[in-house]
Amino acid sequence: CSFFLSPKSTYPVTDPGHSVKCSPVVIDDVLLNGTTLDIPAAEEFIHQSMAIIIEDAVKKATDVREKVCEWRSPDQLKELLDLELRDGGESDSKILQRCRDAIRYSVKTTHPRFFNQLYAGMEPYSMVASFIAEALKPSLYTYEIAPVFTLIEDAVLRKMMELIGWEEGGDGIFNAGGSMSNMYAMNLARYNHSPDIKEFGLSAAPRLVMFTSQECHYSVSKAAALLGIGTKNVYMFVCVCVCVCVCVCVQGAFPFMVNATAGTTVLGAFDPIEEIADICEKHNLWLHVDACWGGAALMSKKHKHLLKGIHRANSVAWNPHKMLMACLQCCAFLVRDKTSLQLCHSSGASYLFQQDKFYDISYDTGDKSLQCSRKADAFKFWLMWKALGSSQLEERVDRALAMARYLAEEIKKREGFRLLMEPEFSNVCFWYIPPSLKNLPDGPELYEKLHTVAPVIKERMMKTGSMMVGYQPHGDKPNFFRMIVISPQVSKQDMDFVLDEIHRLGKDL
Ligand SMILES: *Cc1c(COP(=O)(O)O)cnc(C)c1O
Repeated sequence: CSFFLSPKSTYPVTDPGHSVKCSPVVIDDVLLNGTTLDIPAAEEFIHQSMAIIIEDAVKKATDVREKVCEWRSPDQLKELLDLELRDGGESDSKILQRCRDAIRYSVKTTHPRFFNQLYAGMEPYSMVASFIAEALKPSLYTYEIAPVFTLIEDAVLRKMMELIGWEEGGDGIFNAGGSMSNMYAMNLARYNHSPDIKEFGLSAAPRLVMFTSQECHYSVSKAAALLGIGTKNVYMFVCVCVCVCVCVCVQGAFPFMVNATAGTTVLGAFDPIEEIADICEKHNLWLHVDACWGGAALMSKKHKHLLKGIHRANSVAWNPHKMLMACLQCCAFLVRDKTSLQLCHSSGASYLFQQDKFYDISYDTGDKSLQCSRKADAFKFWLMWKALGSSQLEERVDRALAMARYLAEEIKKREGFRLLMEPEFSNVCFWYIPPSLKNLPDGPELYEKLHTVAPVIKERMMKTGSMMVGYQPHGDKPNFFRMIVISPQVSKQDMDFVLDEIHRLGKDL
């Protein structure tokens, strides 16, 4: 690679900052004078790659006339990408071509016709914040290493807690995903119930059980498995309210936590937090609200009623990388209690968290975290929040939900489309019923045939590259589409396009 200077070419050598040539210092056949990185060449490479990023990963990726994805099978793609790593390096021009290819065959999640996930859209301020953070490589364990980003994280967490309604504040941490946040919550809830576990392990605790609704995110089970609670000790109920009454009766087991979901992943449904909080208070249970998806509604005066009672939660998980469009990943875990995050997770590594530092060590937040290195994720949210203000974030949420409403109404009007349920949030779940099944009565035969429709349409849309919409079965419901509306790039025309396109791709089925 051209950044690395050949040692032979630099005799006699110059050290940066030393104008006089000095004699070479060689240890183990390695020349130690000077630098082996050619900074001007590196800069030039970054310049050129930035041009490609702007042209291909920003402009083209968000252009509605371009494809959302250029589908290739794994074998075709392996061949195209020439993935093998070799002894020799490649030229910069070759590497730039590799950058173009990586972008070309990637799914354009910032494209206006990408509706496949709980995130979408292009957010320029957040993107720039990501670039800056990547260029600076901070790690948020100590104030000493990340002064700016430590303070920014603190400011963002405080503002989020204010929106939740914790008047006395609380504590929190950005981490590597909502699934992690749910795991943090479970660990804190258990620590709150049986603090001896931290030192003495599971033998210090009785059998613990927790409660959640069936619609909760799968990370709840994962967390239970990882933490040694056991998936069988996660009691899932259709309605969490009923469950907690039952819970008290589980023989010989101690309930410690209820997980309420605000905005479920598939249907976008909201558990009744207020009622669940009443029960938790009565039975002294930790209430965690998984608002990874639905937390965005807290920005909106019109829609925040969906999370009524969230201020009574002990902890909250909220992913600004979903509806609020911060770049991946941007996930906050918030706790009402100010000390438990530290008490539960600290291990006081003396090489990082020295107690005799010259500044206020309460800004060394890293010991609250399960990770050691941690990215400056809050910055990606802070910069866009600064640029847009709370008011524009609110407008975005309101618009996404209004757009979802429009789509739902359109589905009700159109022949061949059927809504699964009235959307509570921006998830719009529906079936497409091709003309050939039009006259089948509701029942097992229709369901069985309908089950095969969405996967074929999905295959066709991926191979055409015209859009991406997800599908899934759910309980006893056959495969249906789940449209997620988020991005301010989309308009009514895009909603119409999705329905027209599904019909176009599936009418012969
Ligand atoms: C997305 C989601 C999660 C998981 O968040 P990740 O950041 O993807 O780990 C958890 N709970 C709910 C309700 C979600 O929608």
